[in-house]
Amino acid sequence: MIDKADTNFLLNYIRTIPDFPEPGIQFKDFTPLLGNKEALNKTSSLLVMPFKDEEVDYVAGLESRGFLLGPKLAQDLNAGFIPIRKPGKLPADTYSQKYELEYGSDSLEIHADALKKGDRVIIHDDLIATGGTVSAASKLVEKLGGIIVGFSFIMEIEFLNGTTSLDSSIPCRSLLKV
Ligand code: AMP
Repeated sequence: MIDKADTNFLLNYIRTIPDFPEPGIQFKDFTPLLGNKEALNKTSSLLVMPFKDEEVDYVAGLESRGFLLGPKLAQDLNAGFIPIRKPGKLPADTYSQKYELEYGSDSLEIHADALKKGDRVIIHDDLIATGGTVSAASKLVEKLGGIIVGFSFIMEIEFLNGTTSLDSSIPCRSLLKV
């Protein structure tokens, strides 16, 4: 479990940028955390901890900030890494899943051959806000027959309650409430 000292230490490396990328959004920027070797190391080791005894075939990371620590988490769990990307970025055959944004909609894609039925997958992103993105990613993994064994985030925007949109029987771990 993450203790208070670790939480307070890591929170020093998260900054809030007001009105980015659009007015009204309080953007949680973790580039200071990536840039500090102690904070980066600490984050990597805390991300792996809740899942270290799980059998995991893949970590699926969400574009784009889920690509930053997702591959390291995969290596630490002795698993492969699957990118789940914005439309038109993956070159081979894909499955696509649409999801609603506050204004309009977007979609995510996964390679159709990224995993096979029964593979065990952890879905990772830097942050969960409303939960729409990770829910769409979950549908893609499940469409291919993958079993989601966990959700992993560095940050959770607590007041948005995004984790309530996820299957509550699947462990969901976020290091920091922001
Ligand atoms: P949501 O689908 O609402 O859970 O949004 C999660 C996705 O949007 C993640 O990929 C985040 O990187 C990004 N995101 C949403 N809100 C923020 C925020 N306030 N600060 C940083 N990233 C955000």
